[in-house]
Amino acid sequence: MLNQIRIILVGTTHTGNIGSVARAMKTMGLSELYLVAPKELPDGQAYALSAGASDILAHAKVFDTLQHAISDCALVIGSSARSRTLSWPMLEPRECGVKAVLEAEKQPVALVFGRESSGLTNEELQLCNYHVCIPANPEYSSLNLAMAVQIVTYEVRMAWLQQMSQQQAAVPTVDEVAYPSSEQMSNFYQHLEQTLNDTGFIIKQHPGVVMTKLKRLFTRARPEDAEYNILRGILTSVQRYGRKTQGEKE
Ligand code: SAH
Repeated sequence: MLNQIRIILVGTTHTGNIGSVARAMKTMGLSELYLVAPKELPDGQAYALSAGASDILAHAKVFDTLQHAISDCALVIGSSARSRTLSWPMLEPRECGVKAVLEAEKQPVALVFGRESSGLTNEELQLCNYHVCIPANPEYSSLNLAMAVQIVTYEVRMAWLQQMSQQQAAVPTVDEVAYPSSEQMSNFYQHLEQTLNDTGFIIKQHPGVVMTKLKRLFTRARPEDAEYNILRGILTSVQRYGRKTQGEKE
């Protein structure tokens, strides 16, 4: 089950950090490492710092964009040392571990970590359902990348151990609800934007922040599969109605 939880590193500069992340992951029982546009692929330095975790480096997958790396995930959690201008649903590291473990029973989960110099961009953070912030010293809150991964994956392991012991005591904990994948949500946002353009609610030349605010709303609400299908159906019916009334005018 822990191999359903992937660690994604975005735009990592130092290959040594990638090696240290592999080591941090392996100590906590995680194995799926995804690299998004790393400055350099794992080299000798990375392998040296990975110590006995070279197997994780050797089968790390590389992607061009975060969107591709998370396309099959229904739960994406981005880690950030800073609170951004746009507030987003937040998790404490402990809650993050519990949520990741519960959801990994059903679908792949992504834990996303940013660049050493500048973290994750706002656009990347908006692809996440939640943000996790390690409550460090407010005057010096930015941890080394691999250390941030260590803390978050430690919480994942604690939650997993807890769940194991509960399962042994035969207490069912799985929540049956399924959620749309990140790719489905991005199709929905495209559909929504297209519809709002067609109805004239969004003016193409002045799109403003409407879509960002709507994405935040739907991220917070986190529609379930069935609700997602209703939303898509509503948009399709609005478009069909628009085409019909357009046809009647002509
Ligand atoms: N200077 C960057 C920090 C980069 S540290 C910034 O201001 O955003 C590299 C990565 O480690 C971050 O993108 C984040 O994913 C993780 N990280 C570091 N400190 C963290 C903290 N206190 N809470 C959560 N994630 C943290």
